[in-house]
Formats: sequence, structure tokens, C-alpha cells
Amino acid sequence: MKQAETIRQVREQISRWKGDGLSIGLVPTMGYLHEGHESLIAASVQQNDRTVVSVFVNPMQFGPSEDLQAYPRDLQRDAALCEAAGAALLFHPQPEEMYAPDFCSFVDMTGLTEGLCGKSRPTHFRGVCTVVMKLFQIVQPDRAYFGQKDAQQLAVIRRMVRDLDVPVEIVGCPIVREADGLAKSSRNSYLSVPERRAAPVLYRALCRGRELLEQGERDADRVARAVRDVLAQEPLARIDYVSVVDAGSLQPVSAVERDVLVALAVYIGNTRLIDNITCQIS
Ligand code: AMP
Repeated sequence: MKQAETIRQVREQISRWKGDGLSIGLVPTMGYLHEGHESLIAASVQQNDRTVVSVFVNPMQFGPSEDLQAYPRDLQRDAALCEAAGAALLFHPQPEEMYAPDFCSFVDMTGLTEGLCGKSRPTHFRGVCTVVMKLFQIVQPDRAYFGQKDAQQLAVIRRMVRDLDVPVEIVGCPIVREADGLAKSSRNSYLSVPERRAAPVLYRALCRGRELLEQGERDADRVARAVRDVLAQEPLARIDYVSVVDAGSLQPVSAVERDVLVALAVYIGNTRLIDNITCQIS
């Protein structure tokens, strides 16, 4: 597996591969890789001739009081995981390589970015869209892989690609969970032992919501309330949001008539975790 720290090195490698007629898959990440990321890399390796993984803790998508400095990093371990998973190139730029001191161009989106995580993270998706668009320009992948774990991010990227005619196929991948249901996340490493023990409450709460929908409940507020009730039983949990939204548009619904996404963000201690579940309405 090759590694690159500069955009120029990536471009040179990509043009050699494209010259040979090879297809390219891209897996954008912030590193501290786990089995969730690994599943994205595996899907890309299966569907493309060459897979590029980017590891970049993107300062632009962190708010001023968020965990940019503390975000876990372990490039050596990430490189070993990428190589074992079959990636052909690991791109790990420094922030200065991605953002010139006088950088002033952004990709921004209205609507889809305003609800759910956008409420408490108002500049987050502008940072995500800008960096992902830059990665698309640098790597020019045929396909790019994103986890359903970040359901709003996946929807935002799909919309950006459609609206701006970016020639890339976006592939969504299912959420990979720990045995107790906790969605795998680099941020799980922040959790103390009691917090880790408390964290599966997110998935338990989502499952309660799904159970009600499966039993025929069609009042979205009642579903959301039941999810909150489960979370309220865990003293270490503090709710940021619990929302029942249309699975396609991510708009809030009151009466459930089509497939919905039950999504939540919950602080366990100081760590903000997100999770979601899609419920099919037949
Ligand atoms: P991150 O490094 O957290 O920015 O995530 C990079 C990519 O991996 C994103 O597309 C995430 O949605 C995806 N991802 C993170 N955790 C999981 C998981 N548990 N299951 C599936 N995909 C994930």
C-alpha cells in the first residue's frame, strides 16, 4: 500500500491508475479506524480496482467548543488496518495541505443541513461538504463510500453530488455495531468504563422506537417520546435530540406513512454519540 501526504502525490498516482483504465473507490475518514470503516474499505475493494482511504481530521467541520484537539489519532495503526483491508493508497494530509492560509471557498447547503445534527452543529455540514468536495476533486473516484451511521451526512453528500453534478457514485453502507448494540465510533474511545456500560442505551432506545412502529404505532411524537423514556432511565445520558424524520427527505413527520429514520444524538458524560435506525413501513 502506498501513502501520500500531498495532493500532488495523490494526483500523480491517480493519473497513472486512470491511464491504466483502473476504477477507483474512495473512503473518506477521520482516522482512528475501526470495523465500521473497515466495512466501507471492504465494500470499495470489492467494487473497484483501487481503493483510496483518506485520514484527515478536518478542522472545518468542528465547532469552536468541539473536540478537534482531543480527537483520537493513530496513523500507524490506521495504516496497518488499511493495508490489511486491501487499500491501495492512504492519503493523510496535514491541515495546511488542504487549506491555504487565505482559503475562502466553501460548499454550503440549506434545508437538509438545518435539522438533526445541524441544529447543535450549525457549521458542521459546510465543513463536511467542503472537504468531501475537495477529496472528490483530488481523487476523482468512480465511487465513494459513506456509512449509514452518519445518516444525515450520507443524505447531504448524495444531495451535493446530485445538485452539483459531481461524477461519482455514492455508496451507503450499513451501521457496524458492537455485540451490545453500540454503534462503532472513534469517539467511543472517550468513554470511561461506567459510560461505556451506559452507552448501549442509545441502541436500546432506537429498538424501542422500531418496536412501536412494527406494532403499528403511526404517531411520530409517541414514538419519539418512547425513545426518550428509555434514554431517561440512564442517568449518564443527556439528550441532544431524538427525531422521527422521513427516511428520504429527513423532514420531521407527524403521522408516519412512509419509511422513517429514527435518529438521535445523546451525550454520555461529555461524549456526544449519534445513532439511527431506519424503519420500513409496509
Ligand atoms: P469518521 O471517521 O467517523 O468520520 O467516519 C468515516 C466514515 O465511516 C463515515 O462515512 C461514517 O459514516 C463511517 N462509519 C463510522 N462509523 C461507522 C459504523 N459504525 N458503521 C458503518 N460506517 C461507519
